[in-house]
Amino acid sequence: MTRPQRLLVTGGAGFIGSAYVRGLLADPAAPLAVTVLDKLTYAGDLRNLDAVRDDPRFTFVRGDVCDAALVDALLAGHPQVVHFAAESHVDRSIAGADAFVRTNVLGTHTLLDAALRHRAELFVQVSTDEVYGSVATGSWTEDQPLAPSSPYAASKASADLLALSYHRTHGLDVRVSRCSNNYGPHQHPEKVIPRFVTNLLDGRTVPLYGDGRNSRDWLHVDDHCHGVELVRRRGRAGRVYHLGGGHELTNRQLTGLLLEACGADWSRVRHVPDRKGHDLRYSVDWTRAREELGYRPRREFADGLAATVAWYRDNPDWWRGRGPDDGEGQADQASGPGSRAAS
Ligand code: NAD
Repeated sequence: MTRPQRLLVTGGAGFIGSAYVRGLLADPAAPLAVTVLDKLTYAGDLRNLDAVRDDPRFTFVRGDVCDAALVDALLAGHPQVVHFAAESHVDRSIAGADAFVRTNVLGTHTLLDAALRHRAELFVQVSTDEVYGSVATGSWTEDQPLAPSSPYAASKASADLLALSYHRTHGLDVRVSRCSNNYGPHQHPEKVIPRFVTNLLDGRTVPLYGDGRNSRDWLHVDDHCHGVELVRRRGRAGRVYHLGGGHELTNRQLTGLLLEACGADWSRVRHVPDRKGHDLRYSVDWTRAREELGYRPRREFADGLAATVAWYRDNPDWWRGRGPDDGEGQADQASGPGSRAAS
């Protein structure tokens, strides 16, 4: 019998990590043993893992990636790490960056140290296109210097650099993936697509930043998870891989599509002051991932978006009461993570 591969997936109760774990265990014959380590912050939700909860190959550990003793014990039994756990919301990092530095930088360091001590086989550092800052035209390749704008992006860039340093200095097999904006089911309603959809479904308005010209490339979460899995299986040590979606939209265009999908019109849009340090555009060149790993996003955007809207429509119990307070008449003047538009 094939011995199962033992994977530690951090942040596996969040949006992307849970999709990754559900995908891994979707094949009942896959020889895997998957342990999720998740602190269950406001962003984590065990219901995201309902589909795998009873799978004998699955274990859940509630804990903090900064807890050195716990991480050390887990790394003793898990030779492969796929590291999703992070504070992930830009607006929260602008309101206060402590948790971002702690989890994203110190937590990553705690994991890397334990991985090194236990001679881990590989460590996938899941990162973001935001580490490069804004690009006016064209797309970044993986050798673009890092120039993060927000404290969130700076904390992810710091974690990436630490991770890569463990490869260069110690020879640890670290691979970094940097993806564009993800969308799909189970995303916390503080993020732009679920926030707009849930507000519109509930008859509320949606807050659009500035003039809405900010542009993002959209990637379905399942395509991202497929890309991360290719990085884990086929990637090379010390290498960075871009996982793009190939569907670029301004926030204004995205808002138009969401209004249409929810049967609403522009009277439901509130214009709010732009986010501080708001990057105009992100775009990654994913030629390397395509050529070396065979990566390509498969989900057609219109279909993925319709399915996402349908999921929120069908699962109000999952999101109701969890989103930012977008109560009418108060958000234009308000500040802080609960009242700003999302990226
Ligand atoms: P998320 O906020 O939905 O989930 C994060 C998960 O990490 C939650 O389950 C939370 O409980 C857990 N967590 C937070 N702090 C922890 C700690 N100290 N110890 C253990 N667990 C902790 O985030 P997401 O959108 O799923 O993002 C996952 C990863 O992908 C992050 O590293 C993020 O930077 C990266 N990423 C996300 C996007 C996106 O569009 N969402 C884009 C690029 C990169």
